[in-house]
Amino acid sequence: MKNRIDFLKEELNKYAYNYYVLDNPLISDFEYDKLFSELKEIEDAHPELITSDSPTQRVGGISSSFAEVKHKYRLYSLDNTYNYDELKKWYERVSKECGYNVDLVCELKIDGLAIALNYKDGIFIEGATRGDGIAGEEITQNLKTIKAIPLKLFQKADIAVRGEIYMPISSFEKLNKETEKPFANPRNAAAGSLRQLDSTVTAKRDLSMFTYTAIIEKAECEPKTHWDSLQYIKKLGFKTNPNIRLVRDIDGAIEFCKEWENKRFSLDYATDGVVIKVNNFACQRELGFTSRAPKWATAFKFPPEEISTKLLNIELGIGKTGAVTPVAILEPVLLAGSTVARASLHNFDEIKRLDIRIGDRVLIKKAAEIIPKVIKIVETPEHEQLPVYEPPAYCPECGYKLETREGEVNLYCVNEKCPSVLKAKLEYWVSKEAMNIDFIGPSVISQLFALNLVKAPQDFYKLTEADFLKLDLVKEKSASNMYNSIQSSKSQPLSRFITALSIRHVGKETAEILTGAFPTLETLMSANKDALAETEGIGEKIAQSIYEFFHNEENKKMLEEFKKLGFVFENRNLKRTAELAGNTFVLTGTLQTMTRDEAGDKIKAKGGKVSSSVSKKTSYVIAGENPGSKLDKAKDLGVIILNEQDFLKMIGE
Ligand SMILES: [Zn+2]
Repeated sequence: MKNRIDFLKEELNKYAYNYYVLDNPLISDFEYDKLFSELKEIEDAHPELITSDSPTQRVGGISSSFAEVKHKYRLYSLDNTYNYDELKKWYERVSKECGYNVDLVCELKIDGLAIALNYKDGIFIEGATRGDGIAGEEITQNLKTIKAIPLKLFQKADIAVRGEIYMPISSFEKLNKETEKPFANPRNAAAGSLRQLDSTVTAKRDLSMFTYTAIIEKAECEPKTHWDSLQYIKKLGFKTNPNIRLVRDIDGAIEFCKEWENKRFSLDYATDGVVIKVNNFACQRELGFTSRAPKWATAFKFPPEEISTKLLNIELGIGKTGAVTPVAILEPVLLAGSTVARASLHNFDEIKRLDIRIGDRVLIKKAAEIIPKVIKIVETPEHEQLPVYEPPAYCPECGYKLETREGEVNLYCVNEKCPSVLKAKLEYWVSKEAMNIDFIGPSVISQLFALNLVKAPQDFYKLTEADFLKLDLVKEKSASNMYNSIQSSKSQPLSRFITALSIRHVGKETAEILTGAFPTLETLMSANKDALAETEGIGEKIAQSIYEFFHNEENKKMLEEFKKLGFVFENRNLKRTAELAGNTFVLTGTLQTMTRDEAGDKIKAKGGKVSSSVSKKTSYVIAGENPGSKLDKAKDLGVIILNEQDFLKMIGE
């Protein structure tokens, strides 16, 4: 019986570790639950066999209050700064005191709740909130419900650790949708969830923990540096933050801070700065503490994410759908590490609702989005004297009367020849989401448009290298890059081509659904409305729009042109293509991962042909490093050129 219990505990702890700490589930929830119920059943029948490290002890219970406990080791505060010069001064001080330039460890400062955990013989015995650093509240039961906290370590050890409890931003947003009284931020949500007298409530909340400090009393390993101690506690089963870096000096640390000032918005947890610690424990001991903080560590705080500034003007942006949107032009201000002079104003309804007027002071916020947003007006004494903002009636570019569409808040320019709309479509064509063409940005497009070289997407493919040399500051090297980048986009999958067409209501996902159901352009063009609407995930509104697009005479002409330019229009889902039959390949240049002969064998194995010279019959040219004249010939003939990576994708490697 006990053997079975031990086996189940070990299995369940292993699965929980892989799921919650490594983010790498090994089994399904269903399988986990089955093992869990078995353990629960045996334990219910034999309560004397329940141990504190059993996964069944993670479910929680009710306590009447939290007892105060004195921390075994004091939790100090950290000195902090917003200023790189102060970081440098701090580094000079500690290096001078230690006698050499010390190594540093940089870690993200998680915006959560600090806690202290104690382990004896590898078993979690007690956990408490930070409190005043000397004593905190004992919340062991609640902490046990957090599955990123190991109940039993992989090795026996007497150890005290500190970590930060946090709630992932996605879970916070979900929780706020479900609760009546929303929390102000993920930090408050984590605190509210953790300090529940009924820990079954805590158990239901998605909390996690990053461990960042270990005080080792007795263990198999005695790390000499902070970096090694982090690696060691990771081995013991603790979750540590993956975004840490060992650097040689303060410049390395500043680089880390700068990097994360913006990158932090891509994380699913809140971070408000970087903690920088002296790596060597002997140096740490030498430096010691002030009355409130260690001298061997400091924190760099990220600049605020919200700030107020003056709204100087409202410009109008025109998108590829013809939608006209307001853009705030601001008095430049430093926000979250970058100077902001423009921000999104959502739509004209929002401006009216917030009564935003040009000349107001407004609060802007930078969140996960790259473009900051205007949130609201902040105190502006002269607000009432400012003229109320009137949405435009005419397109600022072409002068067409703007229209509204049923059920939408945007205003639209419906002129199909509106230069702004055409340019926006071209910009979308080259974007990462669509044809993913490098080296061609808005300014290049604007010049090509002004020179009458490109008015519609197909025109890109008619350009010669000489055409690019007509543009400002473009030299031969970049002209050739631009040209090649455009030409190689011909081999993009059909779904990207469909996306790039900017068909109303058809984005990337819809395009993928479409090309899944209609694997060639011909089948898609000839599909009737019902067939389109019956496709899973399409529906009538989208079907109507697709149908109209492909039955428009001008669009038909455009697609015909693409065909003449060498586009293939098949759902060559590169990954899944196993069959190269009917295709002739020419190899040129040096490949990185294989020889040309090996590549040839792979092509033949899948039914394709390999030829030594490029002709009109060549389907693809695979170009490696230093390609020869074959590449030039392929370009002249409009043959699709693949790089090595494209080729590997095509054959499923
Ligand atoms: Zn217009």
